[in-house]
Order: sequence, then C-alpha cells, then structure tokens
Amino acid sequence: MSTALRLLILPIAPVLLAACSTLPASTPAGSTATLALLETTDLHANVLSYDYYKLQDEPSIGLERTAALIAQARAEFPNNLLLDNGDTIQGTALADYQALVKPLACDQTLAIYKAMNLLKVDGGGIGNHEFNYGLAFLSQVTGNQFDVDSVDAAKPRCAGPQFPQVLANVYSVKSGKPLFAPYHIIDKQITAVGADGKTMTSTVKVGIISFAPPTIMSWDKRWLEGRVYTQGVRETAEKFIPEMRAKGAELVVAISHGGLDNSPYSPTMENGNYYLSQVPGVDAMLIGHSHQLFPNATSTVPQFNLPGVDKARGLVNGVPTVMANLWGKHLGVIGLRLRHDGKQWVIDKAQTTVEARGIQNADKSYVQADPAIAKLVATEHAATIAYVQTPVGSTDFRMSTYFADVGDISAIEVVNQAQTGYLAAYVKANLPQYANLPVLSMSSPFKSGSAGVSDFTDVKAGNVALNNAADLYLYPNALYGVKMTGAELKAWLEHSAQRFNTIDPNQTAPQELINTAHPSYNFDTITSKDVSYEIDVTQPPGQRIKRLAYQGKAVDMQQQFLIATNNYRASGGGNFPGLDGSKTVLASPDNNRDLLIAYVTQEKQLTRAKNGAARSWRFARAATKGPVVFHTAPNVLALAQAAGIDNVTLLKADDGAGKGFALYQLDLSK
Ligand code: MN
Ligand code: MG
Repeated sequence: MSTALRLLILPIAPVLLAACSTLPASTPAGSTATLALLETTDLHANVLSYDYYKLQDEPSIGLERTAALIAQARAEFPNNLLLDNGDTIQGTALADYQALVKPLACDQTLAIYKAMNLLKVDGGGIGNHEFNYGLAFLSQVTGNQFDVDSVDAAKPRCAGPQFPQVLANVYSVKSGKPLFAPYHIIDKQITAVGADGKTMTSTVKVGIISFAPPTIMSWDKRWLEGRVYTQGVRETAEKFIPEMRAKGAELVVAISHGGLDNSPYSPTMENGNYYLSQVPGVDAMLIGHSHQLFPNATSTVPQFNLPGVDKARGLVNGVPTVMANLWGKHLGVIGLRLRHDGKQWVIDKAQTTVEARGIQNADKSYVQADPAIAKLVATEHAATIAYVQTPVGSTDFRMSTYFADVGDISAIEVVNQAQTGYLAAYVKANLPQYANLPVLSMSSPFKSGSAGVSDFTDVKAGNVALNNAADLYLYPNALYGVKMTGAELKAWLEHSAQRFNTIDPNQTAPQELINTAHPSYNFDTITSKDVSYEIDVTQPPGQRIKRLAYQGKAVDMQQQFLIATNNYRASGGGNFPGLDGSKTVLASPDNNRDLLIAYVTQEKQLTRAKNGAARSWRFARAATKGPVVFHTAPNVLALAQAAGIDNVTLLKADDGAGKGFALYQLDLSK
C-alpha cells in the first residue's frame, strides 16, 4: 500500500470500529466455529522455487508453491488467518541483492513482502534474521520509523508490507519502547453455527504477539549493541497477554521465532517456547527458527520428545503448536475449534487439530506453483540471476576435489580460512573467556564422485562468482564453533580417517584406498600452517593419526582448541566422538556459504600460495608390495601435480566399471 493510502485509511479505521461495536452482541452461547491458523515460517526470502547458487529450479522450496497449500487450506477452512513467523527477509541471493547490491528504494516493497501481500497475509512476527541488514534497513522495509540511534528520524515512512507486524520483546534503548507494535488484535469476521444449527456471522478478536530470540544481541551485535535490548520470552508474555485480554482479545496466538528447549529458563535463552506454553493465556503457538517440522509423530529430535510435548498431536504442555519447517516447504495448519460461551469465543482443545502440510505430494512430485507470484517478482528475480554471476573475486588456481582424498586442498583451504576468520572474529567480540585459545577449522570435500563422475567441486582459475560458492560449499549449513581438547581433536581426525580402508603392506593384489561406507563429507581435515599430522592407512581405524603437532610441537592432549565447523557436525552429524552438541560454544546464525562469499569478496584475489598450499596432512610413508588404487575423473592428473601431490599416477583412463571413472595409483612410499 502506498504511504498516501495508508495515511488515508488509518484515521477511518476507528470510525468503522465504533460503528461495529454499536451492534448487539449477537452470538448466542453454544455456537461453534472452526478458525484455522495457517503458518509460514523461516521463508528466508525464498519467494520462488529457485536455487540462485546452482542457477536452477528447485521445486522443493518456495512460497510460490506454499501458495497452493494456502489456497487449499482456505477452501477447506473458510475461517482462517495466514500468519508468518519471521526469518522472512534474508537468506537468498535475492534478499542480498535487495538489501546490499541495489538497496530497495523507499517506495518499493521487498519481493517477499510483495508475494505475501498478494497472498493476503494477516499478520507477521519478526525473526532473528530480520536484523541482519541493520536497523535502518529493517525500519525502512517494514514501513516503520524506529526511534533508535542509527535510524534517521527525519526519513519518511517507506513502503512496507500490507499486514501488521508485531514484536514484543525487542526495545529501543533510546525510548524504552518496543521497536514494533508488541501485539495486534485482529477483528476476524467468521462464519459460525448457532446451537439451533443455523449459520451466522460472528466476530472473533484474535490477538497476535511475537517474540524474537534474545540471542540476536550477540548474533547481530554490530547493529544492535547500545541501540536495542531484549526481554525474555516468558516475562514479555506475562506482561502483555493480560493487557491483550483487557483490550478484548478472545484468543491469543503467540508467533514465536524459536524452537523448544527445556533447559532451565533464562531471559536470554534462544528457544524459550517450552516455557512460553506455560504462560497463562497462550492459546496457540506458531513456532520456528530451528527449521524443523512439528507435529511429526516419528521425529527423533530430542526437543520433540520432552515431557509435555505431544509430537503426534502437536501439543506443547497442552497448547496447540505448529512449526512449518523452512523455505516454504510446509504450511502449518491449526484448526482451532471454537465454542461461544455467551460472552466470548473459547477454544475446545480436545477438538482442535494440528498439522504441517508439505509441498511434496505422496508420489514425490510437488504441488504447482502459483504463476502470479513469479510474474510479480520477475524483475527482481532476473536482476538477482545477473548478480550471482557477477565476479566477487578471482583465483589464480583451479579449486577442485578430484584428489581431495589424497591430499589436494585446493577446494578445502579457502573454506577453512573463511570459517577460521569468522570464528576468531566472533570470539574476539563476544567470547573474551576464550581469547587465548587457538582457533582452527575443519572442512571436508562435499563432492567426491558419489553421485557420478561429474560430482566433484571444480572452480576454474579466473573469476569467482557467487554461484561458485555453492560448488565450494554444497550444503546450506550454519557455522558452529566447538571447544575441544587435544585428545578430542585427535579423535575427530581419527574418525575422519575412516575414509580409508586398512591397507596390508604385504598384499600383492591391488587394494582400494577409499572406504566408500564413510562418505567424503565426513572426511574432515585441517588446513593450517600451524598444524601437521600424518594418516597411517596401514593401521586399523582409531590408530592412524600420527605426529599430530601444533606450531611444531606434539599436541598436548589436555590443551584446548576452538574449532570452526558446521551445525551438522557440531550437533552429532556423522557420529564423531565427543561431537554431540555439548561442545558448542557458538551456534551462529550465518551460513558457512555466506561467510565463504564474504571471505572471497574481502580477499578479492585468491592465490595458490595464500589460499591453497597450507597442507596439514599427508599419508604416513609405507612400502606396499602391491598397488593402492582409487577412482576419480579421467584427464585430471595435472591437477594433482599442480597441487604438489607427486605420488599419484594414472593406471587406466577407464576403470571398467562403466561410470566414466579412471583408475589411479597412490604410491605410499613417496
Ligand atoms: Mn531461520
Ligand atoms: Mg531464526
């Protein structure tokens, strides 16, 4: 809506309200109705079913497809409210384009909000990622005038979404007031059925209130410190819900950008919804942030198996609760069954239903996209595609994983450098207690031929554009930092070394080097001038890491290290010893891929010497009576040589397996 229209409508609204309130309260006791709460969450600017890094359609994501679920749910539940949980405006190259590359003009609306306006969203909460581009940007694109330092008070109110946005637990330091309206009460016209069976119209007053994770204060410290402060989810709910009730809210819907966690309550906890559900007056919870699906009867996620959590029915301490995954993959649908008690609408919880519906059909196909959305954002979409193909830097060497299993770090070191830099900077700013610990990083070759001979990372020398970052870092992981002892570091490397079969030096028949049961993405290695170690593949698993040294000295098993990795690994992915979530000191909201892009952008010119030569590991030397062999793409031996790997030779240009791989030999004696 244009600013002018908004100004026109605002003064009229109270007049309409006054007219309505003069009507007699006509809903008799015993009337019933069903009101559906439809939830989108963590859309992360995925307007379209498109992957901007791979530059290809990705039908498993995108609000243009969630739109089909919304239309279907609205047909099924004519009384409905469509509510968004936040983490809405950041997370794709499209979002970065509109925030950083060609910042949105004051009279323009973000692509994701345009699509949400088209879908007639009824209300929205605010997530942590809304703060990623700073307060001035957030103030502008939401059509606000934040009263905080760093936002120009003289700037006009800009275009924003056409639905109310609420946030109750983030306050301006300058004014002591909430940054957004803390809550909003929607007068929702519904169709109900009287005790006499007759259909009638009624109104239900639905209060929406939202919460962001208080941890935004460390994640976006550079934007937020000294400008805003947070309050705990529980205290905030206890303060505002009675106020909402006093203003007539018959139902209170908590739009809370967080997951579930039953560790002791703290006002700074990230995922406070277990406690929010216990605040009197919370009728339903739309949750998110942890990018999970709830309800989900078969979930093994510990947070969904807490006491009081019914993962099949979608109840948290009795409160109907939904989390609709991420990126538009699902739509949350809470069917609130309402009964009028003569004074107001109340929820019949026993008859309320909770579901999360996916955009993938039972036959694995996907629901159709709403063509109106692609049309609506065609200009922004095309501009973003051009943007991701624009170089952000260059490299003087080819970065590939064809020989990553035998020591080529050309596609690994730059990832480790970006991760190390990020974690070190974060520790310096936020974790002074760890300032003296060495910061290392682990990364693995994500693409090593498991899906075929073209399944290797391969970024040619020359320009590096944003879409190359997806080749270097395949998964949309987030950066995590863990604290480990020297012994745990060694155990991590031992587990990684299970990538290799045990080689018998006395065997004369060829022996396969790679243990394909241990995927390459679980072959973590360090690339640091400060660290060196050997992998002795003649030894059984668990006894292969030799001569592990830090700054030239054998690593002290008690010494502590901070290690940058990803959420998958830090939370138990790959079953690495000690990596069960308990060692995490930083669960960052930033994607490893994004910080890789930031690193390349800042470095500008990547060189072999600076970004592809710090090889920390090699195989322990061993004389074998027969050949040790492995398979990779044909015609790439020169890449091994360029990477300084001088113990590899080509045996057969076609390994005979019919998949296009060549057979190479590794000479362990060199
Ligand atoms: Mn998110
Ligand atoms: Mg989030």
